[in-house]
Amino acid sequence: MLNYYTCVLGYSCNNSCIFCTRPNDASMPNVWGYVEDKSTKQIFNELAEARKQFNGVILTGGEPAIRRDFFEILQKCVDLGFEKISIQTNARKFADKMFAEKTIKILGDRADFYVSFHSHRKELFNKLSGTNAYDEALTGLKNLLSLSEQVRTNTVVMKPNYKELPEIAKFLCDLGVKEIEFMFVHPNGMAWVNRKQIVPRIENTIPFVKKAIDVAEMYGVRATATCFPICALDNKCKTKASELFLPEHMIIKNPKARTKDEKCKDCKYFRNCWGIWTNYLKIFPFEFNPQH
Ligand code: SF4
Repeated sequence: MLNYYTCVLGYSCNNSCIFCTRPNDASMPNVWGYVEDKSTKQIFNELAEARKQFNGVILTGGEPAIRRDFFEILQKCVDLGFEKISIQTNARKFADKMFAEKTIKILGDRADFYVSFHSHRKELFNKLSGTNAYDEALTGLKNLLSLSEQVRTNTVVMKPNYKELPEIAKFLCDLGVKEIEFMFVHPNGMAWVNRKQIVPRIENTIPFVKKAIDVAEMYGVRATATCFPICALDNKCKTKASELFLPEHMIIKNPKARTKDEKCKDCKYFRNCWGIWTNYLKIFPFEFNPQH
């Protein structure tokens, strides 16, 4: 069984997403704390320490693939014997086919790519990412799909895109993605600064999440919902909540980030459910609804 250590390399990124929850600006409100870009040595030490307890590693940022020492870090993960090496990425760097091939050459079947992809429409994609990232990101995603069996996508569910989730799901399935995750936006960092534009009422999004999951299922593609309080989901989506399948050590227990109610103690999902984003409650009310 794989247990993953999450290694945050630093917050530098080649995108400038208007909903970024971990922006590369220490002055932004951020419940996760700000992480300066770590040195190669710091990362190597952290990975070696983590390997004593974990057999999988998630490399995240920021954007891991823009680091000059990216391949060195991958090689270190391999040398330390991590069985699965997951890269959370916007995929832009992988638009360079040789870069993508080198990554696969180092990682082999230990590779797992978790690609952010938030709109199938170029105009909206570029607006959300704060750069003209669409063409590179799409080419990068296609390159990864052509080289690896293990490519998952993550779509943040937010005001500008939630009504299009079924179309996004169809687009990703047509590309050949085998696993799609829909993640309710965390009103933190830029998503907090831009909250009026970005954060939807959670209940408005659920019918579209459900339709998107239905679309994926028609293709035989696994789709999950994450960062939703499980009681906010309809019966179908409840069975797709990622939190139900996570090992204990990956359940977020940062009370600054997530809130549960006294009522939650009576809920059958209490152990796994993350509750609601704490900052969401500063924008909209939420009715906790313990499940029995
Ligand atoms: S009542 Fe609380 S624990 Fe239960 S699903 Fe809702 S938020 Fe989660």
